[in-house]
Amino acid sequence: MRYISTRGQAPALNFEDVLLAGLATDGGLYVPENLPRFTQEEIASWAGLPYHELAFRVMRPFVEGSIADADFKKILEETYGEFAHAAVAPLRQLNSNEWVLELFHGPTLAFKDFALQLLGRLLDHVLAKRNERVVIIGATSGDTGSAAIEGCRRCDNVDIFILHPHQRVSEVQRRQMTTLFGENIHNIAIEGNFDDCQEMVKASFADQSFLKGTRLVAVNSINWARIMAQIVYYFHAALQLGGPARSVAFSVPTGNFGDIFAGYLARNMGLPISQLVVATNRNDILHRFMSGNQYVKEQLHATLSPSMDIMVSSNFERLLFDLHGRNGASIAELMANFRQGGGFTVEQDRWTEARKLFDSLAVTDEQTCQTIAEVFETTGEVLDPHTAIGVKAGRECRRSLDTPMVVLGTAHPVKFPEAVEQAGVGKALELPVHMSDLFSREERCTVLPNDLKAVQGFVSQHGNRGKPL
Ligand SMILES: *Cc1c(COP(=O)(O)O)cnc(C)c1O
Repeated sequence: MRYISTRGQAPALNFEDVLLAGLATDGGLYVPENLPRFTQEEIASWAGLPYHELAFRVMRPFVEGSIADADFKKILEETYGEFAHAAVAPLRQLNSNEWVLELFHGPTLAFKDFALQLLGRLLDHVLAKRNERVVIIGATSGDTGSAAIEGCRRCDNVDIFILHPHQRVSEVQRRQMTTLFGENIHNIAIEGNFDDCQEMVKASFADQSFLKGTRLVAVNSINWARIMAQIVYYFHAALQLGGPARSVAFSVPTGNFGDIFAGYLARNMGLPISQLVVATNRNDILHRFMSGNQYVKEQLHATLSPSMDIMVSSNFERLLFDLHGRNGASIAELMANFRQGGGFTVEQDRWTEARKLFDSLAVTDEQTCQTIAEVFETTGEVLDPHTAIGVKAGRECRRSLDTPMVVLGTAHPVKFPEAVEQAGVGKALELPVHMSDLFSREERCTVLPNDLKAVQGFVSQHGNRGKPL
């Protein structure tokens, strides 16, 4: 499989190189040159497979030529063997023809484990083969950091530095990062906000001289391997609900458009998906595009669903690329306009094309809490605020009551106690068994000033298993 950039100017890469790449050199994102397509019979024959075996069949074409079948199988079995539920991604019914796909049974209790547990193992495999070491620097406002550290902590060839805003992440989220130890794990609390952290990561990618030749790898969802891993659970859910003979709709709590883009790809690979609902919080740039063809940057608002607090959605460029007939020059132009003016609209027929599949809703904090309370009352289930947004949007936007609506359950509610308490159901919250001692574990973290040179100095002093690069 070869991968091409959404802006058309960077060289095509194979899977191994795309795994180690961040943005393409032309500023674009990598996508497969040709998407594999499965027949209905082929998909139907996968019914009942254990998760890791389904994952092998869905993802094999993407890694072909870079990772041997036997190695890939073993990696997948290990990856999804870590999950606390035997079904890995169980479905729970909320209402007639309405389901939550529980994607929070991984080690850090959010769906990001599906991709980052795999990414860590893939990196280690590829790096061992190349006899190479890399450095990861990531910024997090919560879920990505802990999932990335959990995913990479056993990697011999990776040193990982995660920046979070000092005293501005929740205690559960902080402890999920700072209680993991290893000579290759470095938690850094920056005396600044999330944007400051993200700017430092961007600046480090732009000028990597402080790494003295060591390669920097991206762990945010611009990394293709993350999207790839998320395609699998759309197949897994549909197969349990009568697919591919029957169509299924999905409602996806969305921030950077990564998770829902994986659903779009699953459909293009042959899975009958009749509708994808973009569920956002008050940070609604995607909803404004889907409802009114306006992709315009606005101010950031802090909400009860912080993992979806974004101003622009990085992966949206991957959908735009398809909507524009995969013409990289059009995307480069669109993005240049966006950078200068802060917004764009697309031609009417392209927007209409998107609307055949996508609907959207922006959900307020108040509606989020109402939904948590209502679902608890009717089912006894406690939803996390992101999942609640998915439920609300799925209910408002669904096109057919006969088609199963699957809401992606993106996080366990204990990660977001504030929203759950505001909804009045906090008493029902319990830490899962494997996390029950989280609040008594020792923490390790370095506090650094909001200063790029200080952070880069720290990385070059500790980037080789705690020793200087
Ligand atoms: C990351 C995250 C999201 C948003 O996912 P995207 O791929 O950025 O759209 C939603 N919910 C939770 C809990 C998350 O951690």
